Amino acid sequence: MRFLPVFLDLSSGHVVLIGSGTPATGKLHLLRAAGANVRWVSQRADVAEELLAASHYAGRIEIAIGPPEAVDLAGAIAVVSALGDAADEAIAARARDLSIPVNVVDRPDLSTFIFPAVVDRGDVVVAIGTGGASPVLARRLREAIEAILPARIGEFAALLHRYRERIARRPGVSLRRFWEKVIDGPIGAAFLAGRTREAEAALIRAIDNADASEQQGVVHLVGAGPGDPDLLTLRALHALQSAEVIFYDELVAPDILGRARRDAKLVFVGKRKGEPGVGQAEINRRLVEAAQAGRCVVRLKGGDPFIFGRGGEELEHLQQAGVPTHVVPGITAALGCAAEAGLPLTFRQEATRLSLVTANTADGAESVDWSGLSDAANTVVVYMGLSSADAVRSGLIAAGRDPETPAAVLARGTRPDSKTAVGRLQDLPRLAAEVGEGPALLIIGDVVARSLPWQAAIAPSEVAA
Ligand code: SAH
Repeated sequence: MRFLPVFLDLSSGHVVLIGSGTPATGKLHLLRAAGANVRWVSQRADVAEELLAASHYAGRIEIAIGPPEAVDLAGAIAVVSALGDAADEAIAARARDLSIPVNVVDRPDLSTFIFPAVVDRGDVVVAIGTGGASPVLARRLREAIEAILPARIGEFAALLHRYRERIARRPGVSLRRFWEKVIDGPIGAAFLAGRTREAEAALIRAIDNADASEQQGVVHLVGAGPGDPDLLTLRALHALQSAEVIFYDELVAPDILGRARRDAKLVFVGKRKGEPGVGQAEINRRLVEAAQAGRCVVRLKGGDPFIFGRGGEELEHLQQAGVPTHVVPGITAALGCAAEAGLPLTFRQEATRLSLVTANTADGAESVDWSGLSDAANTVVVYMGLSSADAVRSGLIAAGRDPETPAAVLARGTRPDSKTAVGRLQDLPRLAAEVGEGPALLIIGDVVARSLPWQAAIAPSEVAA
């Protein structure tokens, strides 16, 4: 990020705009519409029409006709140069010497600030930047944001603004929690749906009845999905955005933590190679402690919290401690990895069952009961099996599974460095060695040969009919 988005108070001075072509008048309108006082230095004298069009906004406008070299930059809060020729460079250099922020239209290299694409809904303003890389991309993003922002969001912000002081006078109430309830709950919904008077009346009642006893903590047990942040559910994203404390595991990708609220406290409770982890009992204890202190807690786990994630134990413990707990499902590794690989886990007739199993039982892979998995129509997905691929292979073959059954190892699925290896059940240890680091899944079943990109690697004629 070279350019930090900030919101500039335009009432504190004047902006110097230099140039007379279309880029200059475009910026003139943008600045004027935002209420800026503009000193416009034009090289053309016949600008009466443009001036008139730009006159009906708040703020002053002053015009000077003359060459760019003569422009007086002193005292400006910002300079915008839209000359489109070599003179821009001289203006930019002078502005930099005076430490005045300068924008040269279409020249991010000469600029110390750039104009974002703007979504303007009154008090709600969204600025979108691409670091000057692509104004077209910024406009596309603006369209997408325009589409999801409720029409009345600006008026809603104004309503909240009007009542800020009234709630601040109520003792002991957590303001953030109060406003979250207003914004996310029925009051926000009613206002945005156009029932503005009803919403305002409800807001007044909520303020006058708010008291400190409502500040109960909560735990959201959230599945983070297999790695790609785009695979978070909307509800998971929402929980991450409202969390005050996030306890996360080693399987949670850094990109996902980047979607959390900026000021959320991030606490790592996973295991790193060669180091002992925090331990389940200690995690349980910390979750309860944070919730009882009134925090909004997120317990963030890779994949889905209830698939080999010990989410069940945590839920039980929290319930026993009387902590309100919500579970947010996530895309489990099997589903994320299979989708990425274009590998259907079930298939009409030939794969009618799906088993998610772990090779990491308390006593190791040798103790897993593989006997129920011999059926050729059963796709077997093994979690935590990378280091015991050998035992998985011998277990399944001993149970009667054909050694020629197609098999794949999918490592770091949906992440930028994902890697796969395909072959047959009998090759499983070699495939596991090929992919390198985990996390990885072993998938065994005829469907592996259904994935188009792999059909060359596994000759169809050899696939069990
Ligand atoms: N709750 C998680 C699983 C936790 S067990 C879920 O629902 O996905 C940890 C195992 O999950 C790893 O050993 C590996 O087998 C699998 N796993 C998790 N993320 C993975 C990924 N991105 N790619 C491949 N396997 C993954």
